[in-house]
Amino acid sequence: MSVYKPLMVNESFSHLQRRTALKAMGGVSVIALLGFPQITMASEVTQQGWRWCSKCQGMFYAASSGAMHMGVCPAGGNHIQTGSGHYLEQTGIDDPKKSQAGWSWCNKCQGFFYSRASQGAGGMGHCPAGGTHSKDGSGNYIALIGEDGPRQQGGWRWCDKCMGMFYSRASAGKGVCPAGGAHSDAASGHYATLFTP
Ligand SMILES: [Zn+2]
Ligand SMILES: [Zn+2]
Ligand SMILES: [Zn+2]
Repeated sequence: MSVYKPLMVNESFSHLQRRTALKAMGGVSVIALLGFPQITMASEVTQQGWRWCSKCQGMFYAASSGAMHMGVCPAGGNHIQTGSGHYLEQTGIDDPKKSQAGWSWCNKCQGFFYSRASQGAGGMGHCPAGGTHSKDGSGNYIALIGEDGPRQQGGWRWCDKCMGMFYSRASAGKGVCPAGGAHSDAASGHYATLFTP
């Protein structure tokens, strides 16, 4: 059977206690945008505000406020959301057929990255804001396993160089990796991201 990388590693998250307002939409809970992607410990939360950056190909949170707004792009300057769909990221747990836990939001670069490798060789990856990514303040996100489907876009991959999630189908190539060169999908499973029209 195929193995989805990054590999599963046991971990204990520091659970975020902060609660934010929720509103029901289509049977799922949607976080009201409060300027940062901190979320509740509800078992399954779907969060708006995520975008694709056409400069680096990365997934990032575009709704942070203040100095954090639009983060730090490995291609230089801030991420941009021009041309992006409206993506959703979810919290949840491991499900071998549907979802992989262990993903986090980086409060330094606003990127979406795999944080369970912190107990393995991959570490916390390379952050374009300097040093490694940080999951401080992040919810416990999942990455969807799969490809294109209803309101779901495939082609997303994990970069084993920087730990980030990036879009691999762009005609411009595999983007810009904060670890140097382009992102790598050599060890990645096939991920998908939900979107709204
Ligand atoms: Zn970027
Ligand atoms: Zn980062
Ligand atoms: Zn990378």
